[in-house]
Amino acid sequence: MPNDKEKEFVKEIPSKKDNFSDWYTSVVLKAELADYAPVRGCMVIRPYGYKIWENMQSLLDRRFKETGHENAYFPLFIPESFLQKEAEHVKGFSPQVAWVTRGGDEDLTERLAVRPTSEAIICSMYSKWVKSYRDLPVLINQWCNIVRWEKTTRLFLRTTEFLWQEGHTLHRTREEADEEAIKMLNVYVDFVENEMAIPLVYGRKTESEKFPGALHTYSIEALMPDGQALQAGTSHNLGQFFSKAFDIKYLDDDNTEKFPWGTSWGITTRMIGALIMTHGDDKGLRLPPRIAPVQIVIVPILFGKDDDKVIAKAKEIYEVIRKDYRVYLDDRLEYTPGWKFNEWEMRGVPLRVEIGPKDILKEQVVFVPRDGTGKKFIKEAELKDSVGKILIDIQNNLFNSAKQVLRSKISEASTIEEFNKKIGEIPGFIKVFWCGSQQCENELIDKTKTTPRCIPLDQKIKGKCIICGKETETTIYYARAY
Ligand SMILES: [Zn+2]
Repeated sequence: MPNDKEKEFVKEIPSKKDNFSDWYTSVVLKAELADYAPVRGCMVIRPYGYKIWENMQSLLDRRFKETGHENAYFPLFIPESFLQKEAEHVKGFSPQVAWVTRGGDEDLTERLAVRPTSEAIICSMYSKWVKSYRDLPVLINQWCNIVRWEKTTRLFLRTTEFLWQEGHTLHRTREEADEEAIKMLNVYVDFVENEMAIPLVYGRKTESEKFPGALHTYSIEALMPDGQALQAGTSHNLGQFFSKAFDIKYLDDDNTEKFPWGTSWGITTRMIGALIMTHGDDKGLRLPPRIAPVQIVIVPILFGKDDDKVIAKAKEIYEVIRKDYRVYLDDRLEYTPGWKFNEWEMRGVPLRVEIGPKDILKEQVVFVPRDGTGKKFIKEAELKDSVGKILIDIQNNLFNSAKQVLRSKISEASTIEEFNKKIGEIPGFIKVFWCGSQQCENELIDKTKTTPRCIPLDQKIKGKCIICGKETETTIYYARAY
């Protein structure tokens, strides 16, 4: 009989379909990804959740370095006067800034912002470092925490403090900066789709939705199962706004002083929220193998008879695969196999390998993939190859089923009535033609209670603006959003 703790653990979590919001919170807490912190709006990322972040970091960091970037670290505190140098920037962030006004027992002469983003502090340093065209490009990334005072918060999705990376680059020309901003957008698309198995739509933000102080903002947008979009990462062409505000000047090879063109780009721990929502099911998390802290759990099936043999065989299997994969051998004696199955399913481990006395006789192991494709019996001699193959299959299956969901939730509309009808029937992205005017954008937002998400790049088809009917080549995705 299960003890009380056991009953509590296996108790069903709310259904994902019927109660998405409670389902989400239960999974975060029960899978031990994160917990609420004593300060409202803050969260504690627990070791299992932090390992996901570490895997994301290493896969992203590799991509940043392959594209020529280096890591550095800048201070947490930003003098108020620095933040105020770029007018749009300070206007955009001031409602969310936390301030330090006192240090020890002295009042500070100037308030210090706890960084809501680091353009101001980084640009102030770049103005010291960049003197000549030979100093360009500057390609620096920082991994750090960020504080934005949020009114309503959700674990991972919106928290007062979160972790991220922020790239900050400088270039000689506008074209180079735009090339960089789009290059990093593509790095994000590659990372999110191929490592996190989350399909995306991506493109440019409208003027009203761009980053405060940017020329252009590009974003990647994922669609959650409730039909709401989640902005999963952004990349900005900052133009020369910050260079001018912070007096970053270089002497070009034609012997004239010029302002460099900047970019910044970031991805945050919010992505973990997208990961949970995209792949999870009524048993808990489902993690893509490439990001999972534990890719394979080995569970010996013990009956009290031949237990030593079974445990010895489980250890043997563990030794065969642990060099190439992140494997956990669950040989705890105080829990039943059934309890362990529940626990590892909740934690989203992509592959469970079972081994019992009968399997030893048959020289086989049992694979139970978390993607729901069913039990498989594998010859022990083929174990190593089969593990590699099934992990690739699980990664692809999770991506493909998420992609199917995304595709099924993208609709098109050519009138407001059609738009509202479709988003009522199938909440998701609605793609429309748009003339590019602010007035038409405002009217669409107002009449549909959605927001513009992004304008796909490289568009060539013609159509008529959903509001004014003017001919245009611009399409844009709208959705409700997190
Ligand atoms: Zn229009």
